[in-house]
Amino acid sequence: MRADTPPIHLRDGDDRVARVRASFDSGRTRPYAWRTAQLRALGRMLAEDGDALHAALHADLGKCAIESSLSETAFLRAEIGHTLKHLRSWMRPQRIAMPLTLLPARGRLVPEPLGVALIIAPWNYPVQLLLGPLIGAIAAGNAAVLKPSEVSPNVSATLARLVPKYLDNEAIIVVEGGVAETTALLRERFDHIFYTGNATVARVVMEAAAQHLTPVTLELGGKSPLWIDDSVDMATAARRIVWAKFLNCGQTCVAPDYLLATPKVADVLMPHLRNAIGELYGDDPRNNPAYGRIINRRHGERLLALVDPARCVIGGGHDIDDRYIAPTVLYPAHADDAVMQDEIFGPILPIVAVSDANAAIAFIRARAKPLALYAFTSDHALRQRFVDETSSGALVFDFAVAHLSAPDMPFGGVGASGMGAYHGASSFHIFSHFKPVLSKPMRPDTLRLIFPPYGKMTQR
Ligand code: NAD
Repeated sequence: MRADTPPIHLRDGDDRVARVRASFDSGRTRPYAWRTAQLRALGRMLAEDGDALHAALHADLGKCAIESSLSETAFLRAEIGHTLKHLRSWMRPQRIAMPLTLLPARGRLVPEPLGVALIIAPWNYPVQLLLGPLIGAIAAGNAAVLKPSEVSPNVSATLARLVPKYLDNEAIIVVEGGVAETTALLRERFDHIFYTGNATVARVVMEAAAQHLTPVTLELGGKSPLWIDDSVDMATAARRIVWAKFLNCGQTCVAPDYLLATPKVADVLMPHLRNAIGELYGDDPRNNPAYGRIINRRHGERLLALVDPARCVIGGGHDIDDRYIAPTVLYPAHADDAVMQDEIFGPILPIVAVSDANAAIAFIRARAKPLALYAFTSDHALRQRFVDETSSGALVFDFAVAHLSAPDMPFGGVGASGMGAYHGASSFHIFSHFKPVLSKPMRPDTLRLIFPPYGKMTQR
């Protein structure tokens, strides 16, 4: 612990964060060998104890093992593989050209770890969103404190048990708990805070970070719109939309929140949506293992309050004791409906009718910048208008959600949907400081040309 930051303990006598900092200060996390050993150990944890994680995900979110693997454990193993493949080149100092006025001189950018990272995760992809940022933190040579979400208690407890079994306990720890524990953690000094969750808590995180001038990455959410017109194949589009929306019961930060379409397109699309729901989840999604559950009763009740029975054209069935809400489509939805105010984060898909693509773009521009924007159209001029005239974390044509599995695509928000982006090399960048290192030989002493007395210069 540096002298300028007196230790503030989580609880009296709890010096866990101070011990992690001492471990970082000792230099143990910096060598390439430590980083690769930790990444490989993390990969082993996901492989050997994948079943325990899948069981915990099933208990918390009703996710089946295949979905848990695709969206959490296998996803992370692919990210680890990508990182191990590129880490040496990411760590290599980059040569920087020097201006004539400084020559002869040598300039390099040397990536160095920031220090101790705090990673705070939410409950919806509770494994991926805690360990994904950790891959970047380890790759960049940092120590880390992991705070899983208390809202997914089975995953939190399983990670708290597994992480110490596989990873370096001196440098990487899990602190479980809710608001009180997170508040106590946020009083400590960290060198980076990586927060994934809602915008209200993001403000709390930023305020706490400001006390120590700690940089933050905020991975937030919001209402991600989806525009669809009649230039695309409706059956394929419907299948892609249904998968993206009802995966994890709609509790996905990049799920299409609502659809924008002309009334004519909405009418054509509706039977395709109904068919696609049947194709993916059968006639009885409740008893289909591929269909998950709402995280808890509170969220279930919040979601049911958003369903206007008069607008419910598909689904609507529910059993709150079983945390079940059927894949549900609302049409026509209006901008001032309750369901159109905040991010839905559940299996409810409102369709808002607009007159044309101009009105759709105006609708999107009038609202907060979303985490993702989806446009299902093969009209190239219109695609270019979406690129030029809208702003979002990502813009994706003709599919949704799966864009975040491309490790070289930075994943993050803009404006209200967050700041900073990660995955692949971007994760390494987030947790690194790229330190300029310059050196100039003593001879010839070219700098003398710019030293005073300046009179000599004006005479020249
Ligand atoms: P959550 O309730 O689990 O909260 C997230 C974390 O914040 C938890 O670890 C929790 O302990 C902590 N926390 C809660 N209240 C706090 C407080 N007052 N002070 C300090 N810490 C506190 O999850 P959530 O916020 O409900 O997550 C859902 C949101 O996250 C949605 O808006 C979703 O879009 C967004 N999200 C974004 C991404 C992304 O990558 N951009 C991914 C997933 C979820």
